[in-house]
Amino acid sequence: MFEKILIANRGEIALRIQRACRELGIKTVVVHSEADREAKYVKLADESVCIGPPSSAQSYLNIPAIISAAEVTDAEAIHPGYGFLSENADFAERVERSGFVFIGPRPENIRLMGDKVSAKDAMKKAGVPVVPGSDGPLPEEGTEIQKVARALKYPVIIKAAGGGGGRGMRVVHTDAALLPAVSLTRTEAEAAFGNPTVYMEKFLEHPRHIEIQVLADAHRNAIYLGERDCSMQRRHQKVLEEAPAPDITARQRAKIGERCVEACKKINYRGAGTFEFLYEDGEFYFIEMNTRLQVEHPVTELVTGIDIVLQQIRIARNEKLGIRQRDVEVRGHAIECRINAEDPFTFTPSPGRITSYHPPGGPGIRVDTHIYQGYVVPPYYDSMIGKLIAYGATRDQAIRRMRVALSEMVVQGIETNIPLHQDLLTDTRFLRGGTSIHYLEQKLAQMAKRATAT
Ligand code: ADP
Repeated sequence: MFEKILIANRGEIALRIQRACRELGIKTVVVHSEADREAKYVKLADESVCIGPPSSAQSYLNIPAIISAAEVTDAEAIHPGYGFLSENADFAERVERSGFVFIGPRPENIRLMGDKVSAKDAMKKAGVPVVPGSDGPLPEEGTEIQKVARALKYPVIIKAAGGGGGRGMRVVHTDAALLPAVSLTRTEAEAAFGNPTVYMEKFLEHPRHIEIQVLADAHRNAIYLGERDCSMQRRHQKVLEEAPAPDITARQRAKIGERCVEACKKINYRGAGTFEFLYEDGEFYFIEMNTRLQVEHPVTELVTGIDIVLQQIRIARNEKLGIRQRDVEVRGHAIECRINAEDPFTFTPSPGRITSYHPPGGPGIRVDTHIYQGYVVPPYYDSMIGKLIAYGATRDQAIRRMRVALSEMVVQGIETNIPLHQDLLTDTRFLRGGTSIHYLEQKLAQMAKRATAT
């Protein structure tokens, strides 16, 4: 096993990875910005290295500083967490060229999946169903673009090949709006992702977001760990996730899961990964693959009993997967609420000092967070400050436990979105299950309307 791992991330995921390392008896090095000096996981780490000022560009995205930190501390491997450099193929390459192990997929796999056009193409060839679309980048010629849109039938969605984090997408409803939308998305994509390539997809009007978690070792063994439903989204960002997805049958799960496993073998994938699909009228359509650990991995851990971070570390050690597909059993139900430091209804970020904190507990409750009473949420990073996860024998029980947990959880001094989650956990459509990706936006729009009317 590794003796020492460097964690190139911050917040709850830095703590989560650290816990897995400590369980395995591995020493940890945490790199941090000046703003995160007081963080709990920095204090708990065996060693810590300050790699720069608060701005991510100068710290958590600073590749030379991270590599030097690994060198001076004699770490053997680097875990990138999610976000930041986790899907940066150049980083993975630099890590390996500097003689360290990258705890993640091979750089060529990250590169292939990082370009959504090449990812879709590869998946199509591997037999994974994809959203109908432009089959490659959009042509330059306006009339050609129109032809593609008319063949797909409006509405369509223009997407940046290099896009991520819910950015670089634009829905188009009419011929007249098409070309301006394409050129705007191109300009934005160039500015945001350094890649002006855009492609087109049929815009699905009431899909659910369902994703398949996979694990693959370096010896071409791969398994799927069932699915997650992440349809509760605002601005294409997930708010609440659950596993398994309501109303997906064991047969459907096996069919799509096997396709994903086959695709992993075909592209020689290694590590943990997620195949994201839109699901509409009983059909799955691939949209992208995330070549990293996901925020919502705990719901899968709770229903399968498999520690995904631990598996990532073992796979990076070149170990063979110790779990066979027939050993994977989806049992019970888990729900995750992302707890954000933000106004629950205007979504304005709310950094600052946490004056009072009481975490919930009890059977089936898991809290993944780095916060504590007195902790100051810095204004420089993502507003997510933790995740509250509830497990139950049934979806109903998971919901009831989540309600109790939300009512027990106290975070004072800053605003959080706990009230929004409380609202969702009593929402009749959510309780029924299977809402589409547009549901939350519609609900929020209605709530805003009601608020202005009164
Ligand atoms: P990102 O990498 O930015 O997360 P994705 O391709 O995964 O982008 O899409 C994010 C979200 O955008 C999806 O979960 C879904 O809500 C919406 N979306 C993407 N493609 C489509 C589509 N063809 N039709 C409808 N909604 C879509």
